[in-house]
Amino acid sequence: MKNTATKKQIDDVVKAVERSSLRAERLPGKQRTAIGVMGNKEFVDQDRIMNYPGVKEIIHVTKKYKLVSREYHQENTLVKVGKVCFGGNAPVIIAGPCAIESEKQLLAIAKKVKELGANMLRGGAYKPRTSPYSFQGIGLNGLKIMRAVSDKVGMPCVSEITSIADLDLFKKYVDMVQIGSRNMHNFDLIQRVADLGKPILLKRGMSATMEEFLLAAEYILKRGNPNVVLCERGIRTYETSSRNILDLNTLALIQIESHLPIIADPSHAAGRYDLVEPLAKAALTAGASGLIIEVHNDPKEALSDGEQSLNFTSFKSLMQKI
Ligand code: PEP
Ligand code: MN
Repeated sequence: MKNTATKKQIDDVVKAVERSSLRAERLPGKQRTAIGVMGNKEFVDQDRIMNYPGVKEIIHVTKKYKLVSREYHQENTLVKVGKVCFGGNAPVIIAGPCAIESEKQLLAIAKKVKELGANMLRGGAYKPRTSPYSFQGIGLNGLKIMRAVSDKVGMPCVSEITSIADLDLFKKYVDMVQIGSRNMHNFDLIQRVADLGKPILLKRGMSATMEEFLLAAEYILKRGNPNVVLCERGIRTYETSSRNILDLNTLALIQIESHLPIIADPSHAAGRYDLVEPLAKAALTAGASGLIIEVHNDPKEALSDGEQSLNFTSFKSLMQKI
């Protein structure tokens, strides 16, 4: 409380705390009285108290996120997608095109990346493109192709959902559901996806803080689905010389703060193919549990993100180095 707070103001705050079924303890000091709030099972929403007259500052001891925190759950969480396991000793390599273009294209890429050591197949059927004039993906047909190719080559698949209208399709066709950067804050969508019970690849919003990122994951765990793999995919900064900045600080910090596995997406972080390998190596060195990498059989002809897609030769080189 402010040092000018009156006894009545202090009493009012104590009563407000107690009305929320919490305990309030007056801690009188030389200059001011502090009020300890106890008995909370989770983060206390300060909005109910902060506008009371006489309140100076609210200092939280409990973190905003609980279920995702390492404080709450010390062991690393392992997330399984078929036989693939995120968070164990070996990094998981997810590879594939930005967008599914045709069965021929996806099959050629899937066979090759598997041969070169990838564990999972990626590919978008519904693409959340920044411009409405860009290729939007081939939709349901893409999901069907994804299922067929994934079964044929024997690698589980991940694909991005952009709308709750497609929940049933994703339930039927994919092994892991991706929430893209542009939908990290779409809490309605992510909670409905959580309810599918499938493992989720949650990408960080391009302007989301670490706390916002972990709170998005908290929504999923609170919904009863613990199978979340986080993905650092680059954030927006003042720097325009590459598409995004791969935030290795947060990649490392999340491993301290949370028990959930975190992987890196050097392709969307870089925006250009020749930065993908160094960023991939840096991310693994910083403890990433895996990588998701865009690979195309003919990047110059790719319908989306060709400039950052690796061809088979550069993917092979990357796999050898990592
Ligand atoms: C993607 O992985 O295809 C994608 C669109 O990535 P992001 O959501 O990170 O931009
Ligand atoms: Mn892409």
